[in-house]
Amino acid sequence: TTQQWQGLDRSHHMHPFTDPRDLNKKGTRVITRAEGVYIWDSEGNKILDGMAGLWCVAVGYGRQELIDAANEQLKTLPYYNSFFQTSTPSQIELSHVLSELTPPGLNRFFFTNSGSEANDTVIRLARYYWKLRGQPTKRTFIGRKFGYHGSTVATSSLSGMAPMHDQDHELLPHFAHIVHPHWYTQGGDLSREEFGLQAARELEKKILELGADNVAAFIGEPCQGAGGGIDPPSTYWPEIQRICKKYDVLLVADEVICGFGRTGEWFGSHTYGIEPDFMPMAKGLSSGYLPIGAVAIHDRIFEVLSEGGKMIHHGFTYSGHPAACAVALANIALIKKEGLVERVKSDIAPYFRATLQQMADAHPIVGELRGVGLIGAVQLVSDKANRTVLPPTHEAPIKAREFAIQNNLIMRPAGLQSLVVAPPLVITRTQVDELVDKMKRSLDQTAQLFGL
Ligand code: PLP
Repeated sequence: TTQQWQGLDRSHHMHPFTDPRDLNKKGTRVITRAEGVYIWDSEGNKILDGMAGLWCVAVGYGRQELIDAANEQLKTLPYYNSFFQTSTPSQIELSHVLSELTPPGLNRFFFTNSGSEANDTVIRLARYYWKLRGQPTKRTFIGRKFGYHGSTVATSSLSGMAPMHDQDHELLPHFAHIVHPHWYTQGGDLSREEFGLQAARELEKKILELGADNVAAFIGEPCQGAGGGIDPPSTYWPEIQRICKKYDVLLVADEVICGFGRTGEWFGSHTYGIEPDFMPMAKGLSSGYLPIGAVAIHDRIFEVLSEGGKMIHHGFTYSGHPAACAVALANIALIKKEGLVERVKSDIAPYFRATLQQMADAHPIVGELRGVGLIGAVQLVSDKANRTVLPPTHEAPIKAREFAIQNNLIMRPAGLQSLVVAPPLVITRTQVDELVDKMKRSLDQTAQLFGL
């Protein structure tokens, strides 16, 4: 029963990103099955999954093609590794298929189990690259405030989330952050485009402060996800790229959320015209059916790594797990067969954005709608006319999430006191209407509770 599950969960299960006290107060919600864009809990509630799990279930739940691919692979070869010059067919095929989807020059793939491991891999490989180029002092990674790149020791420092830094350690050495490109709170009288240039130039200032000889790379999500769906002004990425080139700083586009169609192109780098040296990815790569991540590596970087003349001491037992690779291949094939990337771009994302925009414009506690493609974030405000964002400790976003789940919708709080939705790419127009309707109802209840 639900009560028994909750009891055992409370006694033995430690949850990621959860306040343990909440489990004692409310107990966990047990999710037992899923189909399409819906999940069901153990009480039989049918809930619209506005977050595609954790931004990952691109093709929706219950897709037979992915299930069959996993079954077939598990029957034929459930496991083999890619250490010491061995490979399996699904690893080889997946690297090839990915090379046809990624921006030009990104032709080499290193497999991991997660986005965090993908970013950890980037840190190690980029530092090794500079060492091989005779510049071992180029070690520092510059990220952005509110950037999220993972939860390992290194990637929690790479991320720009203050509570992660405060929790268990100060920032590790060789990690620094610049401002997030959020016009609404920082733009003042500047136009979006002027502000985009100003925010990008913070990178130049930081490089000069640290010394270009000490900076290995800059990392950013094309559109910041967990930070609050922050889509940068059009001037931002071109200026960032100019600065990286000028100071010989590598550019890393973290595609863990943006990859595989969410922005309306295969990758966020396509959407914003980014030409990265490294492109970590995960989530939508397998639509979350099995864990897998990857790092796309530019030819010019791989060439140098190969010239090291010795083994690269990096890898995971499950790098390129055959079943995860087989599922990723089936997932990509399905995205292609159903034209989901094109569908996001020219059909469902425009509808999703227009519907959300209408709600956002009319709602008294929503200041702006942000995001791109099927990432939609609404900024909560106490004063719409004066662009006054709720204070960081205000409980409205958490309460709004609770109201949403009571209304059978998953949406989640994100950075800057915003709420975000990022549904599966297969969501229909009717389901978009349902999502926005439930979101509005939850925001109404929140506004009423706090007298906003
Ligand atoms: N990078 C980004 C942009 C993410 O959003 C996430 C997770 O949400 C990660 C990296 C970490 O990925 P994982 O949770 O698979 O380790």
